[in-house]
Amino acid sequence: MKIAVIGAGITGVTTTYFLTQKGFQVDLIESRRYPAMATSYANGGQLSASNSEAWNSWSNTFYGVKSLFSNNSSVILNPRPTLSKIIWLMNFIGAIKHKNKITQDICKMAIDSINLYKKIAKREKIKFDLYDRGILHFYFNTKQTEHALDVNKLYKKAGLKRIRITHEELYTLEPSLVGKKFDSIFFTKSDKSGDIHSFCNNLVAKLLDENKVKLINKEVTDLRKELKEYDKIFLCAGVGSRKLAKSIGEFLNIYPVKGYSITVNNPGPNAPKVSLLDDEKKIVCSRLGENRLRIAGLAELNGYNLDIIQKRVRPLITWCNKMFPGINTKDIKPWAGLRPMTPNMLPIFKKSKEKRVWFNTGHGHLGWTLSAYTAKSVVNSFITE
Ligand SMILES: Cc1cc2nc3c(=O)[nH]c(=O)nc-3n(C[C@H](O)[C@H](O)[C@H](O)COP(=O)(O)OP(=O)(O)OC[C@H]3O[C@@H](n4cnc5c(N)ncnc54)[C@H](O)[C@@H]3O)c2cc1C
Repeated sequence: MKIAVIGAGITGVTTTYFLTQKGFQVDLIESRRYPAMATSYANGGQLSASNSEAWNSWSNTFYGVKSLFSNNSSVILNPRPTLSKIIWLMNFIGAIKHKNKITQDICKMAIDSINLYKKIAKREKIKFDLYDRGILHFYFNTKQTEHALDVNKLYKKAGLKRIRITHEELYTLEPSLVGKKFDSIFFTKSDKSGDIHSFCNNLVAKLLDENKVKLINKEVTDLRKELKEYDKIFLCAGVGSRKLAKSIGEFLNIYPVKGYSITVNNPGPNAPKVSLLDDEKKIVCSRLGENRLRIAGLAELNGYNLDIIQKRVRPLITWCNKMFPGINTKDIKPWAGLRPMTPNMLPIFKKSKEKRVWFNTGHGHLGWTLSAYTAKSVVNSFITE
């Protein structure tokens, strides 16, 4: 059977991996010259079940509307109306009532997925600057703390242990935060961080070495055309999936939600080692190996534009300097990427109506965390059909 996987980001690479595990030979088709050069290049780095809370809420919706009149919001909505944006936003609002169930579903997938990554990395000896030290969330006022406690109940039902810790425990866990005061702090020991780009490239290199995969550098324009050459196709093209699905008459409601990151090279001894999540500012911070710190955030609904805008990068640098004044920020590399986001935050991993095409896409803000799970599931559904 001739199988193609389209897209060599994290979803395509993990899908390819699980297909080869089942004995299939795979053509991995990628329009860029190397794997993981699009959204799976320099994301926040967090493998975080503790970040499973769905974004669908009235407060986030109002925050988005407020951003139209504010210059320093972490959610930015370009007011220019397009049909795809309007449909996506209406569906986003429609999913608010299902938020709790969505949060629990994502959390369960994330827990399984993180365990799968551990197994893959061990079995295949993949190095990706894995930091297995947990993730800390912190909150600045009573309202945020009460919300965090409510979310904790959902996480607990899903099987995740996120515990509230004291400032003394925080300072022992993460000495770089000694002296900082928060209203509350939560810790998830089972969460981790690692470099998505290294993971994808090292796994692809291994599969190429073992002759299980052929990496083909080509831009796919029409799935019908590819189906003349391949018996089965797995569509894992991130924000490119929507357009390609259209060529087989399918509608995938995936909108590009732009985010930014900075990589601080050689941050020095005062940089944190445990990964952090500032829920208020929607900023994540991860240590990648000894010499890099990655800080990421912002959500901008502005089409497929990938320009790196300085005034969007600045809040990440300011956050870094404010939180960790002792860090060396002489060498900073900014980046922007497009989250392939469904309006209800749930990835799409299923067979298309066309039957020879399978989807594994739409992983939004948690694609690094969720991909091992969705890839394994879609491949299992494929072989048992
Ligand atoms: C700022 C930011 C921070 C983030 N932080 C985190 C985090 O901390 N934890 C987490 O879990 N997730 C995080 N994410 C989300 C995560 O990075 C994404 O969900 C994930 O990378 C998406 O992977 P993908 O394979 O779907 O898409 P991509 O990585 O974009 O891969 C799709 C691939 O398909 C190729 N392609 C597209 N169209 C075609 C075509 N027509 N023909 C051939 N090839 C094609 C592209 O070139 C690309 O290589 C973050 C995202 C951003 C933007």
